[in-house]
Amino acid sequence: MKNLFSVQDKVIVITGAAGVLGTSMVHHFAEQGAKVVILDRNEEAGRRLEEEVKAEGGEVMSLYTDVLDKQVLEGNYTEIMARYGRIDVLINGAGGNMAGATIAPDKTIFDLDIEAVRKVVDLNLFGIILPTMTFTRAMIEQKQGSIINISSESAIRPLTRVAGYGVAKAAVTNFTKYMCGELATKYGDGLRVNAIAPGFFITEQNRTLLLNPDGSYTERSKTILAHTPYGRFGEPSELLGTLQWLASDASKFVSGTMTVIDGGFDAFSI
Ligand code: NAD
Repeated sequence: MKNLFSVQDKVIVITGAAGVLGTSMVHHFAEQGAKVVILDRNEEAGRRLEEEVKAEGGEVMSLYTDVLDKQVLEGNYTEIMARYGRIDVLINGAGGNMAGATIAPDKTIFDLDIEAVRKVVDLNLFGIILPTMTFTRAMIEQKQGSIINISSESAIRPLTRVAGYGVAKAAVTNFTKYMCGELATKYGDGLRVNAIAPGFFITEQNRTLLLNPDGSYTERSKTILAHTPYGRFGEPSELLGTLQWLASDASKFVSGTMTVIDGGFDAFSI
């Protein structure tokens, strides 16, 4: 029987793949029979992950990348095409907040470190635009491909303190919708671009905002959980079902959307 959600033999390229959410995606898609390409600036973590997945019998390759460096991305493209000859799915996962780009509780907008904000916007927005411009070329030739951008709850409703991150993720959502039209009208209905908006998951890029040094929840964490009907943070594995749907032919007529995965945070007031 045909599995509508199959990703068997699809070539899935994931940026930021060695991070907390990316690692879970890599293991999952390799288990599902996809050929997974790990792209990350943390080369050592990428190689470790590659070895783990190979030991589990998965088909995987790991390459150093910097999603802000077009030349490095071009090199990645050449290597991926030489090995697999196609790219079916691009998950733009590299991103995150940076400590300097937040406004501390005792500070105001006038204290904002503009250079730090620029860096967050660079990583979260241009770090999606540049890989999209690079890897989509294979999809255009194939007349088939799915791009999945990782946006955020902060794109929908601004969260306190992370001013730059929210701005950048809102732009990611807008770019997702823009690219839906750009690709389908110029290259056909085989090309799809969607986003997911994860709620709150404890990972490296938000650890200091969510956990005290002793591992207990910060006041911010308590506020988040009080506004989450499920009353808990998400587990990385809870993103996988939506990602598989968007990566597979099950979502063939779906483009320009953003799926919220947040334990009800966005739907809830009091
Ligand atoms: P993470 O910090 O664990 O992983 C991010 C990964 O991106 C790291 O492996 C890092 O080395 C890599 N990276 C950073 N800059 C890079 C660059 N220039 N080039 C290539 N790789 C680079 O964070 P995560 O939470 O797993 O983040 C994954 C994505 O999910 C991010 O886009 C983040 O904004 C988004 N997100 C996370 C949450 C959450 O609650 N954790 C919520 C919403 C959205």
